[in-house]
Amino acid sequence: MALAPGDATLVKSSLDRLMRAYGPAHLDSDPLGLVHAYPRREDREAAAFFAAALAFGNAKAVRASLRRVLDRLGGRPAETLLGFEIKKDGKLFNGILHRWVGSAGLARFAHMTGAALREFGSLEAAFMLDYDPGAATLTGALAAFRGRLHALAPGSAAKKPDGFDYLMPDPSGQGACKRLHLFLKWMVRRDDGVDLGLWRTPRPDQLVIPLDTHIARIGGLLGLTDRRTPDRRMAEEITASLKLLNPDDPAAYDFAISRLGILGHCPRRPDILLCAGCPLQDICRHWRKVPKKKKRAALAQAASQRGETF
Ligand code: SF4
Repeated sequence: MALAPGDATLVKSSLDRLMRAYGPAHLDSDPLGLVHAYPRREDREAAAFFAAALAFGNAKAVRASLRRVLDRLGGRPAETLLGFEIKKDGKLFNGILHRWVGSAGLARFAHMTGAALREFGSLEAAFMLDYDPGAATLTGALAAFRGRLHALAPGSAAKKPDGFDYLMPDPSGQGACKRLHLFLKWMVRRDDGVDLGLWRTPRPDQLVIPLDTHIARIGGLLGLTDRRTPDRRMAEEITASLKLLNPDDPAAYDFAISRLGILGHCPRRPDILLCAGCPLQDICRHWRKVPKKKKRAALAQAASQRGETF
């Protein structure tokens, strides 16, 4: 069950506090930080598409792999992709392996992206062909976008999977499809120093939260969802809860909540000292269960570490 409307005020004030603590200064822990380095709109869009596709696994490893991929694409990635042909450029990513995505899968992804840029002019234009302003979410348009691009991908001659299919998951299935929703969030949310706001027509209230392991776990601790399986339904339920707090922009909280997990500030096995300094403690199911005496001791220790008296 999603959040009860009566709990929304306290949850909103806690999450707003979290957003003030985890903002653009923390982009260096995220692949999106590398995308911000490009001044041109078309390069940001192209680099972000690769960044989102590779955003699985350990955050440091993601940034390292993305850096290598972007280095190969050069200072003008959109221009490189526009001219990319797998027959002549298929070795561009040789030597790069991100988890199970190898250089051949990356080359097919680059060919597909370049073909889309040549055919539609931009990824936004390809997406907008199926955009429905009356739809509650962008998932339908995203599935059509993914299908349109997928049709432009070259086949694979390799006997073993090259990882390409993993880069292009289908949003119409039961999975949360975090990475394509992450790409949409970066494009659609206004430029607040974190997200890029490159696409003007789709509305932020149509976004579905990009559900990763951190959002799923911390969303449960905060009562944003009671579901156990981190799938599409959980993503929709957490989004519905966040809409009670911010109807126009539910995904605004995504970056800050995921930072808690990515930076180890809310580890899987809770650490009471970290909880004592956490902006979410008032709404957290874990902190609520901690006995009062232990809470006071942890709060006092955390205060003394900050050089304050408790
Ligand atoms: S209070 Fe502790 S368990 Fe709860 S969100 Fe914060 S760090 Fe995580």
